Amino acid sequence: MGGYTVLYRGSLKSCNYHCSYCPFSKRSGGDRDVLNRELRNDRKQWFSFVKMLLERVEATNIRALMVTPYGEAMIHPWYWEGLAQLSRHDGIDAAGAQTNASFSIEPFFELFQKAGGKPEKLRLWATFHPEMTSVSAFAEKCTRLWELGVQLCAGAVGAPENMELLKQLRKELPEGIYLWINRMDGMRRAYTPKETSGFAEIDPYFYRELLPHPANEKECAGRMFLEADGRIRTCNIAPVQKRGLKEVPVWETLPAPVCGRKRCSCYLAYGGRDNLMNQALFGPYPLFRIPRRPKAVFFDIMGTLVSDADASDRISAETVAGLSSLKKEGAVLLFATTLPYGEAVRRCRSVRSLFCGGIFAAGAHLFLEKDGKTREYFYYLDDVCLSFLKPLERKYGCRILTLKNGGRCYKITLLRAHRKPWREKEARELFDALPEEIRNGMRYLIEDNCLQMVSAYADKAGGVKKLCEWLCVSPEETYAAGDSAEDVKMMELCGSRTKDR
Ligand code: SF4
Repeated sequence: MGGYTVLYRGSLKSCNYHCSYCPFSKRSGGDRDVLNRELRNDRKQWFSFVKMLLERVEATNIRALMVTPYGEAMIHPWYWEGLAQLSRHDGIDAAGAQTNASFSIEPFFELFQKAGGKPEKLRLWATFHPEMTSVSAFAEKCTRLWELGVQLCAGAVGAPENMELLKQLRKELPEGIYLWINRMDGMRRAYTPKETSGFAEIDPYFYRELLPHPANEKECAGRMFLEADGRIRTCNIAPVQKRGLKEVPVWETLPAPVCGRKRCSCYLAYGGRDNLMNQALFGPYPLFRIPRRPKAVFFDIMGTLVSDADASDRISAETVAGLSSLKKEGAVLLFATTLPYGEAVRRCRSVRSLFCGGIFAAGAHLFLEKDGKTREYFYYLDDVCLSFLKPLERKYGCRILTLKNGGRCYKITLLRAHRKPWREKEARELFDALPEEIRNGMRYLIEDNCLQMVSAYADKAGGVKKLCEWLCVSPEETYAAGDSAEDVKMMELCGSRTKDR
């Protein structure tokens, strides 16, 4: 996660649209005085929230803010001004809002820039309301914003009767703008296979919308949903934890997550969880729903694709759906593992067909199969090292296993009983006992009861560089995910820790 994300909902409840299914559309036609009072109040609360947040960016590590109003916020100048103030703070990476995109672009954009706003940090989540605007008018608006350098997603509720309209919208939007489809609530029936595949054709991530997403508050530590009246929740559907604004002066960290739900039932809930697929698909601030779209993705296996605790090697349905979406979007999927090729493929058999090879044996074996062609590379070890390691087997209570290609060794494992994991001190001692010229050509890593030895030139970051060369892409255009020290350099090289898109 790049930093924490806060969702803000003001007291605004009015909207300039009158969609038949929306309770807030009715309010805009009500008493003028009441409405004006509501707007004045909303403006005041919004600016006080912006001020409070700006004072606490460093202390709280909040780096992204999205307005999720009940009504329409972006037709009001104060939201543009506030977002501009937030975006010009160095510590804020992204600031945006959900909108119906009905605002007049040029004057508001000018206002945003005059207030010092940074368009590259502005994020919009534009929802298409077919009752209120045409496909072409909405697509034109989104295209204009895109041309101005605003990052945005567009989307609509997946009402089956709107299928053809939404297909048309997909055609009229620039390819770079992701068009999401939300599962329709209250349909009282499941989508037919034809409807499902129709929506999945429009939205490559639509299958994620149909998954159950069991709640897991452990993935919600870096988020908060804040309402203007001071109520704080972990996400939009979690229970109210406390009244916050009155406590602003002592509000230095985000409260610990409190869930109380069985399922994360909508994108604003499941899409903001800090997990593998949200990060891989939508970057460090996935709630904005703007895809990362990497050209290639490197996945560590144990502890990343497959839970370390899961003896069955089961890859979760959410991960499988995410991998399929990435593949559909044209990303080349690659393993990046300390496991040998055969073991990696066995553990990931359910998704093997989505992958084009990868980095195996801690970087000592690289393999790529693409467009009917294969490429392979090994970093070999000097066979003579085995003669120095053999006499140490008894002393360290281990057994030597080797991985070979064409008779040449590229990985050595010093295997012990499960109850006897290697400690760094003894691994170092064993390694230092080898002659210097052997040590210079090798490196070691500990994986519980296995002490692994590979060429000093072999690691995952080096593997990424070579595979990127083979694929003619830059590491900057890729993403990598892993959970151990072996993955750190690879993830830094791929920009996975810092880049938004
Ligand atoms: S319901 Fe909300 S708090 Fe609970 S796990 Fe889902 S996203 Fe997190």
